[in-house]
Amino acid sequence: MKWLITGASGQLGLALQEELTQYGLDFIGANSSELDITKPLIVNQMVDLIKPSVIINAAAWTDVDGAESNESTAYSVNALGPQNLAIAASKAGARLVQISTDYVFSGVAPSPWNENAPHNPQSIYGSTKGEGENFVLTTLPSNSYVVRTAWLYSPQGKNFAKTMANLAMNSAGEVMVVNDQLGQPTYAGDLATQIVELVLSGAPVGIYHGTNSGQATWFEFAQEIFKSAGADVSRIIPVSTSENPRPAKRPAYSVLAHGAWGNTTVPLMRDWRIALTEAMPSIISAVKTEG
Ligand code: NDP
Repeated sequence: MKWLITGASGQLGLALQEELTQYGLDFIGANSSELDITKPLIVNQMVDLIKPSVIINAAAWTDVDGAESNESTAYSVNALGPQNLAIAASKAGARLVQISTDYVFSGVAPSPWNENAPHNPQSIYGSTKGEGENFVLTTLPSNSYVVRTAWLYSPQGKNFAKTMANLAMNSAGEVMVVNDQLGQPTYAGDLATQIVELVLSGAPVGIYHGTNSGQATWFEFAQEIFKSAGADVSRIIPVSTSENPRPAKRPAYSVLAHGAWGNTTVPLMRDWRIALTEAMPSIISAVKTEG
């Protein structure tokens, strides 16, 4: 069983490669210069050559604010890219795992978003990712998974946990953090395990929510990071979204329900605080190394 990972040098792409290595599975990780998913010919050639049984699409345009002024590029990567992969996977008989986001939803709900709740994105990033989901599910309905994640962090790349750890360790002033958006901080290593387990378990195709359990605001997430880094938590000042305007609208309520895992043999992802505690030493060490 051969696996192909796109976007292999991103946060999730790297975590997936570590995971597949630990499982002793045969895989090829292709970064954006080795496999540009917006190019159908290249995608077809690569899939023909490698003949994967499983393709995990971890490639995406993830600059949420930048997407507002780069809609056509974001659409190319987040919508047409998954479509190209779905067509190639269909020809090759490969199973495709498309990674998606909580931003496909409106962000206004009284309870966690179900897997089958309708899309109502509030940003270009969210709408292009939603189109990517639709292309995958319609092109490859019997052989695809959509795994939505949120608030992803790891020791690699740029993410909120590393930014906060850096501020905790290398500055002394106050740090303003939004306290009116609720979501699920998710460790990329845990998500990688969940995706590999999902595929290996032969779970029913369809949509799954790949987020750590529990919920938090960005303020609460920042507090835990400061605690783990041994910094003074009172330096973090809660602010509202309106005090911190950004080009792309952020969902206020992004908690994802985990019901679909009940139809599988794969356990739910652990609580975000436990995952963060385990991840923090490697995040602190990455921040120290990167200076
Ligand atoms: P990263 O930004 O860390 O990685 C994305 C990767 O995609 C980069 O390595 C990038 O390569 C690559 N890429 C960009 N354009 C192309 C292209 N045309 N062809 C091939 N590769 C390309 O993202 P994450 O690992 O954080 O995200 C993984 C998935 O999770 C994505 O689907 C994302 O939408 C989703 N997600 C992420 C969240 C987060 O908080 N980060 C939250 C919710 C969902 P290069 O750097 O060379 O451009």
